Amino acid sequence: MAECRSCGAPIKWIKTTAGRSMPCDAEGRTYKENPNGAAVIVTESGNVVRADIDVDGKQATGVGYISHFATCPNASKHRRR
Ligand SMILES: [Zn+2]
Repeated sequence: MAECRSCGAPIKWIKTTAGRSMPCDAEGRTYKENPNGAAVIVTESGNVVRADIDVDGKQATGVGYISHFATCPNASKHRRR
């Protein structure tokens, strides 16, 4: 498993359908697709969707991964690089 170069958190690289590799939090989260949702989820197959996360299992669209850029405590360093 990979880890983030700035904060050391375990991350998972997922290749999106756009052909870019995205670093995501290694832990999967249940999500429900929502165009106005607060989170951006990358699914196992590389689709990037806007969603609500940590929803009730009954309502969930599936399990996806949050972009690590959204959760990294050192994200500002990523952006400057
Ligand atoms: Zn990080």
